[in-house]
Amino acid sequence: MFSEMKKEIIEAGMMLDRYELVSLTCGNLSVRMPSGEILVTPSGMMYEKMVEDDMIVMDLDGKVIEGTRKPSSDTPAILHILRERPDINAVIHTHQPYATAISLIPGLTEFRVCITALANAAGGNVPITPYSAAGSIDMGVDTVKYIGSGHAVILSQHGVMTCGKDLNQALYAAVYLEEAAKCYLAARAASPNGEIKQMSDAQIQQMVDVFRYYGQGTATIPQDMVKRLD
Ligand code: 13P
Repeated sequence: MFSEMKKEIIEAGMMLDRYELVSLTCGNLSVRMPSGEILVTPSGMMYEKMVEDDMIVMDLDGKVIEGTRKPSSDTPAILHILRERPDINAVIHTHQPYATAISLIPGLTEFRVCITALANAAGGNVPITPYSAAGSIDMGVDTVKYIGSGHAVILSQHGVMTCGKDLNQALYAAVYLEEAAKCYLAARAASPNGEIKQMSDAQIQQMVDVFRYYGQGTATIPQDMVKRLD
């Protein structure tokens, strides 16, 4: 059942590994199929060793339809997100270190867009949610509460949840969030007083809008849409 999607999930898991967003067995990926079934990665298994049969197929209540492995320990949070947000079909959880480090900076409640790729992939500023324990439904409750129309939240002292209409959208959000977090932390460390250049709200919105034209199968970016803004 759903062989192609199971392969895509395993490949995306290995991609998380390649971009150093997860270590060993941490993190997880889940996808809602158009017919409503949910595919979830197994708990505590290495992505590079995962095979299609390791994947668990379940319904929105967590009732297992196919698979013999124990599903991700974050299944309660994942199912909560998918139940509450019918527009979200893919959820990725990572422990990506640079984005998570931003949640350790006292007083920050969001990671403001500071480079264009973050606006593109995360759909705007990234909220930082309160602390939540691994395996808790709170991770999902907070994601629903804070994510809005964006694609990512940073869970304080824990990791990141990214959500998308499909697996690729959630994957891009995780990878580019980490890239932006590296730039931000490097700039803060290098800047004499820790201050960095910011993007304006208009510049951020422009980069969110323009991403609709990115990649194959979309129209070319209209040049009047990318006029330089202050
Ligand atoms: P699972 O391997 O059970 O999905 O847990 C990974 C994790 O990151 C816990 O927060």
